[in-house]
Amino acid sequence: MQNKEDYRAIEARYYMPAFARDLMIVRGEGSRVWDADGKEYIDCVAGIAVCSTGHCHPAVTRAICEQAKRLIHCSNLYYVPGQAELAQKLVEKTGMAKAFFSNSGAEATDGALKLARVRTGRKKFVAFTHGFHGRTIGSLAVTHKPAIREPFEPLGISKTFVEYGDIDGLRKVVDSDTAGVVVEPIQGEAGVIIPPDSFLHGIREICDESGALMIMDEVQTGMGRTGKWLAIQHAGVKPDIVMLAKGIASGFPMGALLAREGLEFRRGEHGSTFAGGPLACAAALATFGVIDEILPTVSEKGERFCNALSKYAPRARGLMVGMTVGDRCAEVQKRCAENGVLVNCAADGNLRLVPPLVITNAEIDRACSVLKDALG
Ligand SMILES: *Cc1c(COP(=O)(O)O)cnc(C)c1O
Repeated sequence: MQNKEDYRAIEARYYMPAFARDLMIVRGEGSRVWDADGKEYIDCVAGIAVCSTGHCHPAVTRAICEQAKRLIHCSNLYYVPGQAELAQKLVEKTGMAKAFFSNSGAEATDGALKLARVRTGRKKFVAFTHGFHGRTIGSLAVTHKPAIREPFEPLGISKTFVEYGDIDGLRKVVDSDTAGVVVEPIQGEAGVIIPPDSFLHGIREICDESGALMIMDEVQTGMGRTGKWLAIQHAGVKPDIVMLAKGIASGFPMGALLAREGLEFRRGEHGSTFAGGPLACAAALATFGVIDEILPTVSEKGERFCNALSKYAPRARGLMVGMTVGDRCAEVQKRCAENGVLVNCAADGNLRLVPPLVITNAEIDRACSVLKDALG
């Protein structure tokens, strides 16, 4: 293994500097990772809510290795092993009607925008302030943060941003040419911002009245992260389209689009070389099995974080926990890392904890004690 300083120099010379980073993680097991110097961390980042089954869960690793020996790729020109079974499982757990796979969250968003346009025949979208939906041209168009979007405008998609939570504002801008309203049930990149259920019910109502589609971005909140398969299930609202990605295959790149009855791509309308390939489906099917088992424990574990951190007014649903820390966020993140706990600063000084769903009570207690120390 190269030492980090040598590695840093090679990267500086040959890799585009789009990321600010410091640690070099070389190994993981369960909720723990090790850096290049052998230092151990409790991982409350989990690849940003990706490694829900923990790092290298034996069932997931086994499924990937066994599939890699049988068939790595075959193309969507043919039936793909695992693809239909995975679609069936996702549909059954979410109450949606059909699935379609992609390679990432951004691509799932792009697929949702395409599906909404082609089935409604309408052009425009509405999204929300502080919302994040991805970095491709299409998904970036409905992502709010001006600093990451504006340098790339025009993005060719007509959209309006409404204050997250503002139902009256939404009612004013949705009209008969609105194809869809794109929304996160809990805003993740914004720092775990949890709206009242009435906001989600209100969007459903406005979409029903106007014929716009309710497009629910569950890329971060889905796959058990909040204690249910979808976060929107807490509110009892049925969206028209759902996007999934991060937690779906334990770190193997994959995304998914789920849609209600009557909404589907017809032959030739959408496609992808890699999406829903045999390896991704094998990883996702194994992930699905693990999550199905641990899902009942997720809410309790979230509460354990909240109880330990109650002094700092945490916001949480399941194992998606946020706290407003302010200007000190980066410093707190650094101190936690020094003391063996990985946490992440999302937007606006909001600390975000999205550990593996398999994290143990002992690991939660240890992480919280380090956090409290860093927060003071
Ligand atoms: C991460 C994220 C995306 C983008 O997913 P990528 O796989 O990075 O393209 C989209 N929406 C939400 C809510 C996300 O958290």
